[in-house]
Amino acid sequence: MKRLAVLGAIVTCGLTAVGVTAQGLPGITEIEQVSGNVYKIFGAGGNTTVFVRANDVVLVDTKLPNSGDAILAEVARITDKPVGMIINTHSHPDHIGSNNQLETLSGDGIEVIAHVNTERRMETAGGPFGVAEVDRSYSTQMTIGDGADQIDLYYFGAGHTDGDAFIVFPAARAMAAGDIYAWHMSPLIDPGSGGSMLALPTTLTAAYYSIPGVDYVIQGHGNVSTWAEFRSFTQFNRALVATAEQTLQNGGTPEQALEAMERNPSFAIFLDHAIKPGLQYGGTPWARALINLRLTFQELRGETPTLVMNIPDPHQH
Ligand SMILES: [Zn+2]
Repeated sequence: MKRLAVLGAIVTCGLTAVGVTAQGLPGITEIEQVSGNVYKIFGAGGNTTVFVRANDVVLVDTKLPNSGDAILAEVARITDKPVGMIINTHSHPDHIGSNNQLETLSGDGIEVIAHVNTERRMETAGGPFGVAEVDRSYSTQMTIGDGADQIDLYYFGAGHTDGDAFIVFPAARAMAAGDIYAWHMSPLIDPGSGGSMLALPTTLTAAYYSIPGVDYVIQGHGNVSTWAEFRSFTQFNRALVATAEQTLQNGGTPEQALEAMERNPSFAIFLDHAIKPGLQYGGTPWARALINLRLTFQELRGETPTLVMNIPDPHQH
């Protein structure tokens, strides 16, 4: 029941709470090339990464339910090869929502791959969302194929959930990050799916130092970043947790920790008061930073952390 509540919150309450219905979500936009054989489809939930191999197509994440036809229509713009594999970055319904529909449309010829923790969550029905079967899983690292078709899957620990995968396409020097890195701001943390703000900096840092040869980072939602931008994002989240701990030790509040972070000009982009284009249903980077400072305080105190989708930003513009 707990998972049901979290999924409901993410897909329903989180959106309706800010006055936007499902129709208010940005729709699917035209497929765009990221690098080499790697493409991205924005909208209707998380980004879908498209990787064209010698004989078929691999999809990373499948958006909200009933997006299968639209995804296949975008894939058809660049290739007539069939979809042979789906890799899911984590278990949220805006990333796995059309797995089942795509499998049906493709005659069940698709292999589904996910991290073991994500597999466990996907194979448990949650509220209005049915079970999504996983065919193959991994715990820390797995390589699929070789040469131009090679895909490397990595896992370094919890963050957004406890199953956040980093999917790397070495030939294209591209990586799909999932929601541990979305909108180039501190991520939504879902404690009900094993997410942890305290774990996040360690996970991101391990990814930054362990994964070689990436120039393009496809965010879970939003745009494509450089590896240098992924590093500054990692540094910001390290600083957020460190500042929260220092401020708590001094008897301060999350709001005071936020003020301390605002004094560092290099963090300005992560504390911005503008809604990101395409995130009209959500909040500002500043609001997310404050939510995550409060969450860090909760975790440091040993309290049960709570999922908070959005809070008002008094300086929003
Ligand atoms: Zn997510």
